[in-house]
Amino acid sequence: MSLLDELTNSGATQLYIGGEWREASDGNRIDVLDPSTADSLATVASGAEDDAKAAVDAAAEAQESWAATAPRERAEILMRAFNLMIERKDTLAELVVQEMGKALGEAAGEVAYAAEFYRWYAGEAVRNLGSISTAPGGDKRIIAIHQPVGPSLLITPWNFPLAMATRKIGPAIAAGCTMILKPASDTPLSALALGRLMAEAGLPDGVLNILPSNRSSKVVPIILGDDRIRMVSFTGSTEVGRTLLGEAAKTVVKTAMELGGNAPFIVCEDADIEASIEGAMIAKIRNGGQSCIAANRFLVHEAVADEFTRQLTEAMKGLKVGPGLEEGVELGPLINQRAQDDMAESVEVAVGNGSQVSTGGGTGRSPGFFFEPTVLTGVAPDNPVLGREIFGPIAPVTTFASDDDAVALANDTIYGLASYVYSGDLARAMRISEAIEYGMVGINRGLISDPAAPFGGVKQSGVGREGAHDGLLEFLETKYIAADW
Ligand code: NAD
Repeated sequence: MSLLDELTNSGATQLYIGGEWREASDGNRIDVLDPSTADSLATVASGAEDDAKAAVDAAAEAQESWAATAPRERAEILMRAFNLMIERKDTLAELVVQEMGKALGEAAGEVAYAAEFYRWYAGEAVRNLGSISTAPGGDKRIIAIHQPVGPSLLITPWNFPLAMATRKIGPAIAAGCTMILKPASDTPLSALALGRLMAEAGLPDGVLNILPSNRSSKVVPIILGDDRIRMVSFTGSTEVGRTLLGEAAKTVVKTAMELGGNAPFIVCEDADIEASIEGAMIAKIRNGGQSCIAANRFLVHEAVADEFTRQLTEAMKGLKVGPGLEEGVELGPLINQRAQDDMAESVEVAVGNGSQVSTGGGTGRSPGFFFEPTVLTGVAPDNPVLGREIFGPIAPVTTFASDDDAVALANDTIYGLASYVYSGDLARAMRISEAIEYGMVGINRGLISDPAAPFGGVKQSGVGREGAHDGLLEFLETKYIAADW
């Protein structure tokens, strides 16, 4: 039986609150589509205002006893969850493809990546270290301890439906926080599958509550407006992030924001061009270009731009496009109709402002929300397409003449998440890395994500970090105790 059938038959397409599966209080359901056909895949309960209140009650009720569990116990739950995810890698990957569309091999990669957050935070759970020092005046001891921030709201996007969830659930569990997870309404099934798996791993009822809802703008303010919620960890667009920062201000809730990006991919004239193409294809095509760290602007030195573009065009042309579950497919569909329309609009904007299409440019396959791998050349630095977060398989190429130019172009955006630099001279690549305003830089590589690395952005790409020890600290508060003895 497929995992999708298992979820449907066991009632796990409902809301998960306080360890129980239940329908939305008003009976509403979300229609989840298969992006490779645009047909309905399943329906999932869509939480309403009353359900949001019930989820807050459940998370608040479980907080005290959960915070009191031994760190080792929380670590063991995470390790059991890690093992269960690896054991069930194939069925989880299939589910991710069904609701999100990516190629099966990539989905298997996502399951492994998602599970790694549990393994990493199983280690971090037992390393919640504090400090003790003597005050400079010698009058007291300064003791600093870290305690769980409390019930947290986790909001995730659709592009990595498992990994974006475990990247938040892992550190929240390690820290001793209870939580409400609101997954994206395009991809709630993977989150619900995780809910079931976490219960099997021994997570107590009420620690993880899952509230799919296609009425986010109604239910989220109810959750954030409740004094008992102490943290919101959001991954999604900068636009929604701004709204949530506004909501969070009302109750002065702690925030962690992983927002949009506009990653530059800089290729210097001394770079190994073949290696840069390999990196470019990963940075552009991984997840169909639907990644916050996807290369969004190729900035190539004018001396190598023709060769780079020729090779990139060849590589993009050679990709096998199709439904993610089909053998050998490298590029699946986009998530939905709006995403497909956005791609067509990006090409229109680019071409309308003087650039050329060297391959692709159209939707290609039908039915489903497909878009052809596309390369845009002759993209002037002021072409408005460079200001858009493309979020799909379109690669605009712009040229530069000096490192200063490249740095200025790279920094000419409100975003500052990921960036990439290719050069044969490591000192030069380091100089550029230090000069560009980004939270993350890949030098001579197109893949940077790692659960052990601090992931996050500067400028309007976000606040805070996920992964590494930093990700644990987001779910902790520091308490200072002044003591005499
Ligand atoms: P989105 O902002 O539309 O939605 C993200 C989540 O917020 C979803 O769960 C959605 O239901 C919810 N949401 C939407 N409107 C809301 C509202 N008014 N109030 C409360 N919640 C609301 O983003 P998306 O389309 O799901 O994902 C794509 C975006 O996410 C891109 O901009 C991408 O760069 C970003 N992203 C960032 C990271 C990162 O780590 N920085 C990772 C993945 C995706």
